[in-house]
Amino acid sequence: MANHDLYQEVTNTFIALLEQDGIQAWRKAWKNISSSPVNIITGTQYRGWNWFSLTLAAGPRPNQWATFKQVQSQNGHIRKGSAGVKIGFYTPREKHESGDEQTSDDVLAEKNHRFIFRIYHVFNALDIEGITVPSPVPFEGNAIQSLMTVCLSKLKKDGLVYKRVGNKAAYWPKQDIITVPEGRFDSPQDYCAILAHEMTHATESRLGRREKINDWFPDFDESYAFEELVAELGAAFICAHFNIKGDYDNHASYLHSWLKILKGDKFTLYRAVKLAQEAADWLLDQQVAPALQEAA
Ligand SMILES: [Zn+2]
Repeated sequence: MANHDLYQEVTNTFIALLEQDGIQAWRKAWKNISSSPVNIITGTQYRGWNWFSLTLAAGPRPNQWATFKQVQSQNGHIRKGSAGVKIGFYTPREKHESGDEQTSDDVLAEKNHRFIFRIYHVFNALDIEGITVPSPVPFEGNAIQSLMTVCLSKLKKDGLVYKRVGNKAAYWPKQDIITVPEGRFDSPQDYCAILAHEMTHATESRLGRREKINDWFPDFDESYAFEELVAELGAAFICAHFNIKGDYDNHASYLHSWLKILKGDKFTLYRAVKLAQEAADWLLDQQVAPALQEAA
């Protein structure tokens, strides 16, 4: 299976979710996740595209996964009739492996040709029998404080001004200011979720995202919608990292544009997820090993 089919399949699932219940459905999906997706045998935390695919597929189930082979190696088995979820990894190319039919995809042209894309099926913890599945380990500590000391501090050190003022949460790119209204949130978690969204916007020029987006989407509405998608996804990565289960309403006026850009190109979602992971890594000050970056 070519990897662009993988992107198309997950994009279709995401579109179906949005068409059914709008952007709130997506927020609800990531708000209810038990943790970031993790491999129950190796403890590997999935990132980027795999993070998104697995989180979308997990629904209310534990976000814990393993391949058939891994389960077998532990003398466990997969419950009959269970459906696996496809994930992809770039793995170092063996010497004898030559052609990689996917390198013509523009998204992948930037990939190092020493790597080859492989697809694996992983099964949810609830479909695995005969082995003890460890409980997910959520982030421990004060989520709000951590969000402030890690992400917001990083931005402030880089010149951003943060103000609790006004009646609208926003990032103002020209002034490099984030404003979040005082006392308009149902819970501290909701406040964190919107702050994570605005902080992701604040990485746009810092990480050179604006040029890429303008290149891909010359139409203003579409480029705006794409950046909103990146901010949503960035907030999802950050909130999952700190186990923040917040929600907010920002009127979702870009739903129509989201659907348009998602339907227009099977790589749109892949690109948004990749850029959101980059933004979250920067905000969380995470140094990521090159091998894992390839998997994102
Ligand atoms: Zn936004």
